[in-house]
Amino acid sequence: LPTIFSHPAVAIAFWPSFRQKLPCSIFAAAALCSCLPDVDVVGFQFGIRYGDVFGHRGFTHSIFFAFLVSLLAAYAFCAQKKNRKLARAIFLFLFACTLSHGVLDAFTDGGLGVAFFSPFSNVRYFFPWRPIRVSAIGIADFLSGPVLRVLLSEIKSVWIPCLLIYAFSAILFKRANKETL
Ligand SMILES: [Zn+2]
Repeated sequence: LPTIFSHPAVAIAFWPSFRQKLPCSIFAAAALCSCLPDVDVVGFQFGIRYGDVFGHRGFTHSIFFAFLVSLLAAYAFCAQKKNRKLARAIFLFLFACTLSHGVLDAFTDGGLGVAFFSPFSNVRYFFPWRPIRVSAIGIADFLSGPVLRVLLSEIKSVWIPCLLIYAFSAILFKRANKETL
């Protein structure tokens, strides 16, 4: 993982594209979704190994898991409202944020790759270009490691691109709204 602080940057980046359609509570859910795949580290306590299907960067980092979580959340949120457009927007936003977690992990330079196609295949993938320094699992290990180098690589490879997307889409949507007025 990049550190847990950096995954929600993606929710911030995508927010301007969705904020016209979605309530703010969905933004909080998206920030949560962007970190959610790392619940799999709990498995280490129970003897699940890193490379297992439910090991770290396994099933919870897959496309299928992102699909399931966002579908359930969209359904839970819209079950009473019966608003298809809203449900679709919630699904898309949460899916993008949940899946972005594995995508960022696949840009890191350590650990095992990401099982994008779990549970159908447990093959682990990395991108050929891996600019993000991997962060240690667990706070104690993280703090005793090269903290600054990890954080700097995240600022460069995650936060700056995400904030650029945020700024760019915020301007774009503001202009689009002005034109429709
Ligand atoms: Zn992860």
